[in-house]
This record gives sequence, C-alpha cells and structure tokens, in this order.
Amino acid sequence: PLTIGVLALQGAFEAHARVLQNLGATPKLVRTPEQLEGLDGLIMPGGESTTMLKSLERGGFFEALAAFVAEKPTFGTCAGAILLATDVAHSTQKCLGALDISVERNAYGRQNESAILSSETSMPGAPLEMVFIRAPRISRVGPGVETLAKRGDDPVLVRSGSLLAATFHPELSGDERVHRLFLDMVEDSQRSYR
Ligand code: GLN
Repeated sequence: PLTIGVLALQGAFEAHARVLQNLGATPKLVRTPEQLEGLDGLIMPGGESTTMLKSLERGGFFEALAAFVAEKPTFGTCAGAILLATDVAHSTQKCLGALDISVERNAYGRQNESAILSSETSMPGAPLEMVFIRAPRISRVGPGVETLAKRGDDPVLVRSGSLLAATFHPELSGDERVHRLFLDMVEDSQRSYR
C-alpha cells in the first residue's frame, strides 16, 4: 500500500488519516522534517496556516518541505493550499511557491465564513459536496493549472502536475473522490519514475 504523510503540526490532520485508511493507504503523521523521508505522498491539512508556518520555521522544516513538494505528490487543503501557493494576500505571508496559484486568505466574508455547498466537478460522479471553513479564495491560476471544481467563478479544486489543492475540506464530507484522485496521482507519479 501507499504510505501517505499527513502534516500534523496543527489542524484537521486526524480526519485525513482516517480517509486514507478507509481507502487502503497507510497514513503517517508528520511532525518533524525527518518524518518526510520514505513517503509516497503528503497531505497538508486545513487549520491555521500562520500557526503551521511558525512550527515550520524551526529546524529546517520549511526547507525540507519545499524540497519534498518539488519532488513528490502533495495535496494541500485550505491552510495547506495556502502553503502550496506562489503568493498569498490578506495578509501576505511566506509560502512554498510550489503551485502556480494566488490565494487570498479568509476571503468569503463573515456570513460565508463556513458553508456547505455543492458544485459540478470534472471528476466522475455526482456533484461534489464541499465544506468551507474560513476558506481562502484562489484569485489566479497559472497556465498549466487545471481547475476541477468551482465555487461560482472561483476555482476551489485545482491540479498541476503532481500537486493538488482544495480550498474546502474534503476530509469532512463523506465523499472520498478527492482523496481517491490524490492516491491515483501518487500511483501515476510512481509509474512515470519507472
Ligand atoms: N483561515 C485559515 C488560514 O488562513 C484557513 C482555514 C482552514 O484551513 N480551514 O490559514
């Protein structure tokens, strides 16, 4: 089975580990840069990206993570998507610059702070249920970034190469398609190395 790390500094990591287990992968909680070694892929969960950054700025963790995402499939959800981006607004903060998207943090306003919405998706099957919690908005996608689902006009699920990002929390809806898509991406990346 695939061994998938779940960044476990803060936030919604437990629920991701459960979904991975349901899908037959082996989740490994990642709390140190050393624990990135030997993983087939990584999920960076939702939570508070500023808090995660604080932990990442110790012991070379940020640099180790940047090296990992440049090489191995990585899926960022919400705060994790903010970490993957090339630029972050409201407020500006450091990011990995791995996925060519611009994001605005907490962009959906007070009344829409949290919402459960449904959207058509280019993934097979029924519309996708999406749980948004103080979600960022993807305000720009670079060339080569594919949009797989939208909220109104805003991309909310995007993919580029072996990187996947969602501004919602797929681990909190019963729909496992997004995690399955990520595991397929991990398998594909291993085939192309052989
Ligand atoms: N508002 C959070 C941030 O800016 C993200 C929210 C989430 O991950 N659910 O990091």
